[in-house]
Amino acid sequence: MKSIYAVLKKIPEKATPRVIQSSQAPIFTIGNRKMLNLCSSHYLGFASDERLKKAAVEAIKTYGLGTGYRTIAGTHTLHVELESKLAAFKGTESAVIFPAGYLANMAAIQTIMTKEDVIISDELNHASIIDAIRLAGIQNKHIYKHADIDDLRRQKDEIQRSLTVLRSDGEKRRALIVTDGVFSMDGDLAPLPELAEFAEEIDAILMVDDAHGEGVLGKGGQGIVDHFNLHGRVDIEVGTLSKAFSVIGGFITGKKELIHVYKGYARQFMFTSAMTIPDTAALIEAVNILQESDEPIQKLWDNTRYLKDSLKQAGFDIGHSESPITPIMLGDEAIAQKFAEMLFEAGVYASAIVFPMVGKGSARIRLIPSAAHSRNHLDLALKEIIRIGKLLKII
Ligand SMILES: *Cc1c(COP(=O)(O)O)cnc(C)c1O
Repeated sequence: MKSIYAVLKKIPEKATPRVIQSSQAPIFTIGNRKMLNLCSSHYLGFASDERLKKAAVEAIKTYGLGTGYRTIAGTHTLHVELESKLAAFKGTESAVIFPAGYLANMAAIQTIMTKEDVIISDELNHASIIDAIRLAGIQNKHIYKHADIDDLRRQKDEIQRSLTVLRSDGEKRRALIVTDGVFSMDGDLAPLPELAEFAEEIDAILMVDDAHGEGVLGKGGQGIVDHFNLHGRVDIEVGTLSKAFSVIGGFITGKKELIHVYKGYARQFMFTSAMTIPDTAALIEAVNILQESDEPIQKLWDNTRYLKDSLKQAGFDIGHSESPITPIMLGDEAIAQKFAEMLFEAGVYASAIVFPMVGKGSARIRLIPSAAHSRNHLDLALKEIIRIGKLLKII
């Protein structure tokens, strides 16, 4: 046996993911059983939306499936249309799409940062941001406590000292402040207004990953920048097209000059193939829907308020979320796992979130309502959650 297999044997086994046999609707099928879906980030119910599906089918009939490398012959008119629609939707000058949000974060950071530049990052940023910082090999890292602007301010002198050192090419060191907009485990928001102020004080670039903010926060679902009315003060906005948009892909928006640089130099733009035709067409339709009406967003927030109010009334600790992400704080890992198992038995799929996704001792169940859930769906979930909460003596 090759030695690699001996090594692999020592790596602990992980549970295999559950397999979904239907579409990603509020009720989906797992193991031939109908289950209530309260764990996916398809905030607006677009994953099984008729208009998106139709747009994808029509586009396949007209244009086929894949295209190839953007830089050779893979840039399709639909890609260009989606980019311009996304820029308009976000209220920015320009946008570039990638096959995944993960890749968009890689590109956003790696393309403009050298090893000798300075990164300032929230300790709870998404794994793709952490990986991007590693990929760029940035040595001067200032990680601040989660959403803690005071902790960041305590590091100001040190950061400024670091910024006075020149890079080996004689240029000034660049500083980039990067944060998730909505944090996906707690549903809390980054202190973006304070970060914008700090960025201006130290002349840093400000980047926000708005994966859980687009289609959710701000006017018409524009995202966290609009929520805080910070137009023009955030340099780089990264988004994903797999959460509220429910398809696949990621994007970066910002000023024309910035996007030009990404299209010219991002390795994640140059060395991987483009988003497929049906995905792109469906995403164009998703943006169209949001530009026609904010009804899906209203519905999402109605459901969010109903779920949160009902859980609070029942006596659960639901943390400090400011978004549809709704944690039920349980603390103990074993209890969280047990809670999730019992819910699953009862036909409700909500994920248990445990270490290392969150700190030790802050295990929880995470519920994500969407615009596609009916009151009946939520009532069914609440009934089971309350029943199990009592059985496990949580409430
Ligand atoms: C989901 C997520 C990503 C990754 O997006 P994909 O499109 O799934 O690759 C990046 N950042 C944050 C904050 C996310 O929640």
